[in-house]
Amino acid sequence: MGFVQTVEDLVIGSGFAGSVIAARLAQAGRQVVVLERGPWWRTDTVGSQSGAAERQRAFPRGRQAARLLRSIEWRARTGLGAHRLVHADGLFDVHRSPHLAVFCGSGVGGGSHVYTNMLVEPRDAFFDAFPGVLQDRAYWKDLFARVRAVLRPQPWPDALPRWRHWNDRFERPDLALIGPDAARDVVNAAGVVQQPCEGCGECIIGCTYGAKTTLDLTYIQMALQAGAVVEALIDVRAIRSVDGGYEVTARDQQTGRQRIWRARRVFVCAGALNTMRLLLRARERGDLSRLPAQLGRRVGANGDVLGLLSTAPVQDDAPGPSIGGIFPRTDDRYLIAEGVIPWPRSGRISRGLLERFSLLLGMGDDGLPGRAVWRGGGLTIAYQRSDAGELYSAIEARMQEFAHAARSRLRWINVPSMRSRGASRATVHLMGGCTVSDAPNSGVVNASGEVYGHPGLFVADGSIFPAAPGTPPSLAIAAFAEHVAAAAA
Ligand SMILES: Cc1cc2nc3c(=O)[nH]c(=O)nc-3n(C[C@H](O)[C@H](O)[C@H](O)COP(=O)(O)OP(=O)(O)OC[C@H]3O[C@@H](n4cnc5c(N)ncnc54)[C@H](O)[C@@H]3O)c2cc1C
Repeated sequence: MGFVQTVEDLVIGSGFAGSVIAARLAQAGRQVVVLERGPWWRTDTVGSQSGAAERQRAFPRGRQAARLLRSIEWRARTGLGAHRLVHADGLFDVHRSPHLAVFCGSGVGGGSHVYTNMLVEPRDAFFDAFPGVLQDRAYWKDLFARVRAVLRPQPWPDALPRWRHWNDRFERPDLALIGPDAARDVVNAAGVVQQPCEGCGECIIGCTYGAKTTLDLTYIQMALQAGAVVEALIDVRAIRSVDGGYEVTARDQQTGRQRIWRARRVFVCAGALNTMRLLLRARERGDLSRLPAQLGRRVGANGDVLGLLSTAPVQDDAPGPSIGGIFPRTDDRYLIAEGVIPWPRSGRISRGLLERFSLLLGMGDDGLPGRAVWRGGGLTIAYQRSDAGELYSAIEARMQEFAHAARSRLRWINVPSMRSRGASRATVHLMGGCTVSDAPNSGVVNASGEVYGHPGLFVADGSIFPAAPGTPPSLAIAAFAEHVAAAAA
């Protein structure tokens, strides 16, 4: 066994859950180490905010574009298929189960580098599924306020020329970025200098201008300022219980060496896909033998539907942010937002082709009908469109209405599933599988995020959701992490 490092609190993952936990525990005086499998991403205007130079990367553009993909796991209809590491330091992770494709980000700051910046409160029914104090809307309002105080989201200030059909009717969601009309050199809540948004429409492949208020520029900075250590390019492979806590084994992606940490408390915040991977694998290997039977059950895709409109809404070099607005809502179970496909100005992808299309992004409460299992040496998620068929039909019908009104054709619904005629789904919002509950026979973690049967082991990311918010989930994930951290500090 190699050199074992000991620490009070170990956090796995640095996205919406991990960065919040790290900041708040470090501010409370706890000794915190964060392990993140991806690199520090560098932006043109603010650089990389920390980390040794060899663990920093420029966003995938131009010759670096191959780094768009980190890894891919393709489980064909047989249910088997390997997990392939493409670039340890790539931006996106792709998982494909027979009827569900999952996309998520990688790097210090997690999904905040690839998300479309929308911070939206969940629909009201979401809170009813939580236990105890978490049913109290006023309590959640306070948690949301804490997150907003750090990420300072605001609606885009003006109507965007790109959607003349809907602009006056769009709901403009709060976006975590520095608005285009701000002065230069805005000092954010963590004291980092950011720049106004250039409106390049490339939000989902990493903001090179330092306008996105990502987690590495905010909560992670607060964690570092309070003494936390953030280790980038450290891919956690195993968690096992040992006397007095947990042992975490990881691969250092830079050196190829194995590294081991021991901690009294471990906070698993690897995002729903990878948290389930780590915990289901630990159960399979007998490393965490008392994990509840509910692990892997009630998995959801947040009702994600991706539509591609063949229209030409953008005639401009600066289309605006990735998301322009939310279409008028007629049914509170779901929402549909409008977006642009990024065409990196520095890249080689044909801009002429990409700018002829725009996106419709639907999401809704699918009731978490899926199930994740460990099979054939990897994770497989059983999830079918028909499990939430009525919701998907409603979203698709509404998308058709918008396409018709814009005199456009809705070409694709869920692009990765074309060959299966829409029977498969693709999601950027995987959730559930480690649901919060007031009893071990109905969930995996208690109201404080602590895993039943494993004191000192916590889960705080979207895998704890006991219901689908039906809205972009990151605000609620960060808010739940604020709640977990407050109890654990
Ligand atoms: C294209 C796209 C657009 C999106 N738009 C929105 C939006 O507008 N609004 C919204 O609310 N949500 C959006 N999302 C979803 C959002 O990104 C996620 O909800 C959010 O990032 C989840 O937070 P998390 O903390 O659970 O996980 P993440 O933010 O994914 O963080 C998990 C971190 O753990 C790391 N990790 C994983 N496995 C390991 C391991 N084994 N060892 C070490 N580290 C590990 C990952 O690299 C990652 O940094 C979008 C997602 C995508 C892909």
